[in-house]
Amino acid sequence: RPFVTLTGVGHRYDPNPSVPPAVTGIDLVLRRHEFVAVVGPSGCGKSTLLRMISGLLKPSEGAVSVFGRPVDGPRDDVGIVFQKPTLLPWLSVRRNVLFPLKHKFGRYSKGDEKRADELLEMAGLGSFAEKMPDELSGGMQQRVGIVRALLLNPDILLMDEPFSALDAMTREQIGFDLLKIWEEQPKTVLFITHSIAEAVLLADRVLVMSKRPGTVLDMIEVDLPRP
Ligand code: ADP
Ligand code: ADP
Repeated sequence: RPFVTLTGVGHRYDPNPSVPPAVTGIDLVLRRHEFVAVVGPSGCGKSTLLRMISGLLKPSEGAVSVFGRPVDGPRDDVGIVFQKPTLLPWLSVRRNVLFPLKHKFGRYSKGDEKRADELLEMAGLGSFAEKMPDELSGGMQQRVGIVRALLLNPDILLMDEPFSALDAMTREQIGFDLLKIWEEQPKTVLFITHSIAEAVLLADRVLVMSKRPGTVLDMIEVDLPRP
């Protein structure tokens, strides 16, 4: 059963017809619990693609649907992780990850707190729940951002170069920690990265976008033994 379907999707930022669209003609299906990585040169339209799936950006051509329904704005069942985690500096790590729940429902339960602690533990942040964001390294802050997105339990998680500010060793460690979390809590994931190594480590499928705006060059199936 497809979770996310894109049919002839494209977007132009510039209405001037002599300027080519940022992306065009994208047909793509994301299946349940599939981890798809998107790679491609800078400016080829990866972020535009992700923002159209998220509902943050309305495609100027084609249609995006999630669970068979057209996407017409941001939705609760789609989580997003950006390159910078933008944690609230005056809240502890635990309160930061619980913040969206609080914001949405006005409160969170003991069960939510327990789940937050479990996810922080799995992300290697078990002993940092009471710390403030500025006491954590960049890598740890990025993990906090991922836990925060996961705590809302979205069916679909979109990640736009979440690790690009981190060094190679840290990226690899976070990659392994994430794999542990996916095993326990599978998600449909679309993951933009500059790193082929990261795509190969994490993804079931790699989508290669070409330099020509928006054209999908190839779909390479990556079949990897999981650690
Ligand atoms: P990528 O994520 O692969 O680097 P983007 O989706 O960010 O690519 O950008 C695709 C193209 O759209 C680029 O040519 C970029 O300059 C252009 N673009 C992206 N965002 C905007 C915007 N907000 N306004 C105008 N043009 C944009
Ligand atoms: P980076 O510092 O490159 O972002 P990580 O976030 O993976 O990398 O952190 C590397 C290791 O350093 C972690 O395993 C963690 O134990 C330790 N560490 C990082 N920041 C702190 C801190 N503020 N206090 C204690 N240990 C830390």
